[in-house]
Amino acid sequence: MTRLDVAPPASEGPVDCDGPRALVVEAREVPLGGVRGMEVHRTLPHRALPMVGAWCFLDRFGPQETRMRVEPHPHIGLQTVTWPIVGEVRHRDAVGSDVIVRPGALNLMTSGAGIAHSEYSLGDGPVALDALQLWVALPEHRRHGTPAFERHEDLPVLPLGHGADAVVVMGELGDVVSPATVHTPIVGAELRLAAGTRTRVPLRPDWEYALVGMVGEVELDTGVPVVDADAARRDAPPSSDGAASVSVDATRLVYLGTRRDHVEISAAADARVFLLGGEPFEADIVMWWNFVGRSHDEIVDAREAWEAQAPRFGAVVDHGPERIPAPPLPGVRLTPRRRRV
Ligand code: MN
Repeated sequence: MTRLDVAPPASEGPVDCDGPRALVVEAREVPLGGVRGMEVHRTLPHRALPMVGAWCFLDRFGPQETRMRVEPHPHIGLQTVTWPIVGEVRHRDAVGSDVIVRPGALNLMTSGAGIAHSEYSLGDGPVALDALQLWVALPEHRRHGTPAFERHEDLPVLPLGHGADAVVVMGELGDVVSPATVHTPIVGAELRLAAGTRTRVPLRPDWEYALVGMVGEVELDTGVPVVDADAARRDAPPSSDGAASVSVDATRLVYLGTRRDHVEISAAADARVFLLGGEPFEADIVMWWNFVGRSHDEIVDAREAWEAQAPRFGAVVDHGPERIPAPPLPGVRLTPRRRRV
């Protein structure tokens, strides 16, 4: 879930994202799930980087020992992509799913116009948990549709050579295509490098990409100067030192921009890193709490429907009245995020 987060004024206008970039977004700590919540590390959205393709949200929860109790809450306009690293979580939703989410399996929930779900760790005490949770914004032709849930435990692998490969979790990489249902041209892939590996990852020049560390670290040949996203946000001069490489670990995401046909990465020790990318998204989005829409009024409607317990979001299986209330809206109109890269 996102915390209340108001976009910068639309008058700042779109900026140029066309071309190779090496924009470093440091993960920030965000409390999740209320009083008994857990800390997560968030890299998307960032004020300088609202999206990468259709990917609009990226949280890393863990590694930590915690008792997870995220009660039923709503989503609109997105897919949630849960990619566990350590531990098991029980997922229940309003289309009847009641599954244990575990490493190696993609869990993909498509909200369409509305869904609700809950996420609990197993047992009553703290357990080891670590996972990526990402959101994919749905395009116009799908975002008003019906909700769905699917899981995939047998995902295809693209060999990268030299002791590296890629599990294609969502979309396509090279000529390997995930069986998961996607609605825009996209990729989400876990790249696995053995110690001492140097490899080349095939990219599409018309797509944009980013890498985020999962386990260990990789060194990325950027080809262009490295820019800090927070410096970009403050309109400060780029903290460019002409660096031609940057390390990618779990503390950061590095946005690669467009117009690359490959990227080279290396690892001194065993490492795993997640590649996300896709065709630049068709529209500016308005994101607030657990909702992805196109306008302030759509968000207001969704919030009111949740608060009124309207049938739009359905009922999460095997749950009583427990639910997370929507936070208050900000005192200003929500506006789309625009690029500042
Ligand atoms: Mn959720």
